[in-house]
Amino acid sequence: MKYALVTGGSRGIGRAVCIKLSLMGYNVIINYANNITEAQKTLELVEMTGQHGEIMMFDVSDRYQVCSNIEKWQETHPNDYIDVLVNNAGIRRDNILALMPEEDWNIVIDTTLKGFFNTTQTLLPAMIRHKHGRIINMASVSGISGIRGQSNYSTAKGGLIAATKALAQEVAAKNITVNAIAPGFIKTDMTDDLDEESIIKTIPMRRFGTPEEVAELVGFIASPAAGYITGSVISINGGLYT
Ligand code: NAP
Repeated sequence: MKYALVTGGSRGIGRAVCIKLSLMGYNVIINYANNITEAQKTLELVEMTGQHGEIMMFDVSDRYQVCSNIEKWQETHPNDYIDVLVNNAGIRRDNILALMPEEDWNIVIDTTLKGFFNTTQTLLPAMIRHKHGRIINMASVSGISGIRGQSNYSTAKGGLIAATKALAQEVAAKNITVNAIAPGFIKTDMTDDLDEESIIKTIPMRRFGTPEEVAELVGFIASPAAGYITGSVISINGGLYT
């Protein structure tokens, strides 16, 4: 049995990734933080592919919640391990730095960076023992170029890219790849409040991407065909290089 854990699998890009990985034969563990109804919808979609799925609730930034849930899963699956980890959970709290409340700085960085640390460090020992693993981190164009009004989010995603490159070197010899994906604007709840009409004028392809397009890329990186790609940041942004 092959198992994949997708953090923030209840909605948007995470949901599309859960479906893609289930179509590739993975049993998918769908993580969410608040939205059980949407997590259950993702589970139904996963099961419609004929694959097994399960829901796991935890806040990625809470080390105790992450460790205890994954340890409980491991106890009930003594002969299995999770060989694909998609660190997808993320939030935005945009504001110019001069006016940004400290809690908005902290929560965005903790969700992305402590989230990465908590899940990855918990799952890494089993990947190392089995000499196989795929860690895929959902970064953003914002972490590459920096976007005004997003100093917290750009910092978090830029840090995630740096962590991807550092960890890739630590675990390459164990046949574990670590890569980051940097989407541009993708149509999900996260971008629902944006002025799509004016933003698409800045995108050479003149449209937002879809969660399914990002999920195809995740599927490729998780596949054996991508075994020699590690420490990379792969953009998927319709030509947007700001
Ligand atoms: P979304 O539709 O807002 O969904 C966010 C997901 O993350 C939800 O499943 C949510 O769970 C989960 N989540 C949030 N905080 C969490 C926490 N503390 N612990 C566990 N899960 C948590 O977002 P999206 O657009 O699909 O974005 C997915 C990832 O892609 C994010 O990392 C985002 O930064 C990145 N990204 C998105 C875009 C874009 O244009 N959409 C562009 C670049 C990068 P609940 O349902 O329980 O709230």
